[in-house]
Amino acid sequence: MSELKPYYADLHIHIGRTERGEPVKISAAASLTFGNIAEEASERKGMDIVGIIDCQSPGVQRDMKQFLDSGEMEEIPGGGIRYRRTTIILGSEIEVRDPGMGAAHLLAYMPTLSVMEEFTAWLSRHMKNVQLSSQRLYVPARTLQQEVADRGGLLVPAHIFTPYKSLLGSATSRLEHLLDPQLVAAVELGLSADSEMAGCLSELDRYTFLTNSDAHSLPKIGREYNRIELAEASFAELRKALAREDGRRVSANYGLNPRLGKYHRTYCEACGRVLDERETAAERCLYCGSNSIVRGVMDRIMSIADREEPHIPSHRPPYCYQVPLEYIPGLGRVTFGRLLERFGTEMNLLHQVSYEELAETAGEAIAAKIIQAREGTLRLETGGGGRYGKVIKAD
Ligand SMILES: [Zn+2]
Ligand SMILES: [Zn+2]
Repeated sequence: MSELKPYYADLHIHIGRTERGEPVKISAAASLTFGNIAEEASERKGMDIVGIIDCQSPGVQRDMKQFLDSGEMEEIPGGGIRYRRTTIILGSEIEVRDPGMGAAHLLAYMPTLSVMEEFTAWLSRHMKNVQLSSQRLYVPARTLQQEVADRGGLLVPAHIFTPYKSLLGSATSRLEHLLDPQLVAAVELGLSADSEMAGCLSELDRYTFLTNSDAHSLPKIGREYNRIELAEASFAELRKALAREDGRRVSANYGLNPRLGKYHRTYCEACGRVLDERETAAERCLYCGSNSIVRGVMDRIMSIADREEPHIPSHRPPYCYQVPLEYIPGLGRVTFGRLLERFGTEMNLLHQVSYEELAETAGEAIAAKIIQAREGTLRLETGGGGRYGKVIKAD
């Protein structure tokens, strides 16, 4: 059996613009181009595998071909595109809305550029503008699943509990209502949920969980990520890992503490106030009386759960709470730059470098906070009301 090694992977990163400046995801940063994502992942973040979403866009495909032609990037035999230390997996985020259900975002990953081009040709017949990110597809979700499977792709429901455009947050209360359970490769938890919360739903037990950043800007790459045991960084190996075949597996999920996620708590859309968990049974805001209440992820999970207590299946890896380096109070740009210069990448800073070495470059206070971030012991302020939580500054 071939030797397995851990790889760090963030499989949900959006394109803001093509290299020529054409919009792809309008709400994402203009600096989020195919080339800049590859560079940031490889040189600064130290991310071994990145899933670039929006690769169905013909403008992005033109960019990819240019990088392949110039020799800066190459397609690898097992699927995916190699740039220096990083493997890029080609993905797309698609909105479906089946009759009687709310909208849901689904991720589709394809093995090669040519397969992704064929997929684009199919999508463009059922979508208004295939150039743009996360567009509505006018076919049933199960038809999409079959199209993805027939092309050797992987289908993963995105950020499954968020209150807008997600499988279990807004579309339906059970996966099987919208999707063929056999043709789901894994599920993405999203920023406001962790493995334990998801363990309250028995139908998710069989699936591998992914924790990805859904980055809309370069610094957010790696805000959440996975450690995956593979023989090499390729699409074929990723497929095996999600199915937990031949020893390949996701061996850790790294995510924000759900309390940092912006949809953790229930809040009132009209007045912006976060509602106390004991008050969430209320249909109206206790402060302004409005009935436009956005359910927090925790409350949503409790309302659709079929278990009182979470169950963690034996295949489930640890979920490690980790605060991204950009959230560390007092870690300014200059010090961050010095740390990266000395230790290479953010993954090294988060996982490898010792307290003593960190303290030499950044001082003891920052070093202590980075170690706390690594161990998941930084104190946090709860998120909600569409705002992210914060690290509390005082020690
Ligand atoms: Zn989405
Ligand atoms: Zn997304």
